[in-house]
Amino acid sequence: MIAQQIQTAAYLFASILFILSLGSLSSQESAKRGVFYGIVGMIIAIIATVLGDGVQGHTYIITAIAIASVIGVLLARRVEMTSMPQLVAILHSFVGLAAVLVGFGSYLDPKTHSLAPTEHSIHLVEVFIGVFIGALTFTGSIIAWGKLEGKVRSKPLLYPGRHLVNISLVLISIVLGVMFSMAEGTDGLIYLYIMTAISCFIGVMLVMAIGGADMPVVVSMLNSYSGWAASAAGFMLGNDLLIVTGALVGSSGAILSIIMCEAMNRSFFSVIFGGFGNAPAASGDVKAMEGEVTSITHEETATLLKEAKSLVIVPGYGMAVAKAQYPIHEMVQVLRKAGKKVRFAIHPVAGRLPGHMNVLLAEANVPYDIVLEMDEINEDLPDTDVVMVIGANDVVNPGAQDDPSSPIYGMPVIEAWKAEKVIVMKRSMSVGYAGVENPLFYKPNTDMLYGDAKESVEKILGFLRPKV
Ligand code: NDP
Repeated sequence: MIAQQIQTAAYLFASILFILSLGSLSSQESAKRGVFYGIVGMIIAIIATVLGDGVQGHTYIITAIAIASVIGVLLARRVEMTSMPQLVAILHSFVGLAAVLVGFGSYLDPKTHSLAPTEHSIHLVEVFIGVFIGALTFTGSIIAWGKLEGKVRSKPLLYPGRHLVNISLVLISIVLGVMFSMAEGTDGLIYLYIMTAISCFIGVMLVMAIGGADMPVVVSMLNSYSGWAASAAGFMLGNDLLIVTGALVGSSGAILSIIMCEAMNRSFFSVIFGGFGNAPAASGDVKAMEGEVTSITHEETATLLKEAKSLVIVPGYGMAVAKAQYPIHEMVQVLRKAGKKVRFAIHPVAGRLPGHMNVLLAEANVPYDIVLEMDEINEDLPDTDVVMVIGANDVVNPGAQDDPSSPIYGMPVIEAWKAEKVIVMKRSMSVGYAGVENPLFYKPNTDMLYGDAKESVEKILGFLRPKV
């Protein structure tokens, strides 16, 4: 078994690798390196922990790690890119559940009851808070998974007085916490059980209250909670590395949530506490659509592209579903060879995962320098000949700017309608994730190109290839 000093050094090294990993993940060019740092850091962390003093039952641990690794590898290989957000959400729930189990285990561990009185009290607080955050993360993440998978309705579940109920439940949990910390031996178990049930309920209600359009914040928020749950488990187990790693995940998740809120022009606290997402639609009249919907053929689209000098492509969730990124890249190459200025406009919440579109485009080897963020490209759109909206809907909805009754009112969007011509490629007139009608489809300069995004792009390519 490895000595304490070697373990400390290994933990320090793993922490540095995790920090380097987070740093590298912030840009596409270095993201692969970031994942590598993370993997190496985690391997070092597991080995240093398993071989550390006081750890017994190595056969069980190694068997469990082997089984879990096989399941993990199989799952990761089989999961579709479109199901990635659901996978991330369900993995957060495992972290929550682990924190709950560690909490109960740690409370029942006879060794912790022989600690000095002050240390014992601190330990009880750690257990109580850890189980509370863990249970909330566990059920909240399951509901988030259900919403992303389409198994739970994405409309917010709002009932009168829900804030009062939530606050009362938190207050009851605090009282239970005091009773728990004053109980002798393991007599406090009953309080721990009741608080776990309450926290599970809060987790469900918190995520149920959040509307479809605000789900990106929920995913990043649960990411943050799972980090704090891991950190709490680290305190309970006295494992410094788990505390540091959990804090890194918790704080980066919190920063991501704030960035997502800023990108959506939402108040962080309104999203977290109120199902702010659909509130305006619930209170006001939904604006009727004005104008006529016109459609275009693949051949006409190809002609438009040939005539255009500047083009902007706005990808969305439909591109991920159709796996259209590969033919899109080929189309972009053909158009760029013909001397056209082609760029991508990426909305911060396009798709179903932060950075979803960037990952897909990187996967298809689209050069990074033509992939621009919404803020970088919006001002160029009035001077753009053609905007191709490929499988996107909510992120190009003008109602976010001019319809106060819209659930996404106030969210910054890609102003596709300002271009000379807009082609919207999707299969039907159906709504996007936020469940709102899109006035863009009714604008006089917009034409709909119906069909699966991949098939449509391939057909357009067929018309572009020989002549351009
Ligand atoms: P949307 O969900 O608004 O719209 C996607 C569109 O793609 C649909 O309207 C659908 O229309 C179309 N589509 C689906 N399949 C295909 C296909 N095979 N070929 C062509 N089109 C297809 O996506 P956006 O990316 O515009 O917006 C993302 C939404 O998801 C926002 O509301 C965001 O808040 C939310 N969200 C984002 C998360 C994130 O972190 N990025 C996380 C959770 C939610 P049709 O059926 O007619 O084809």
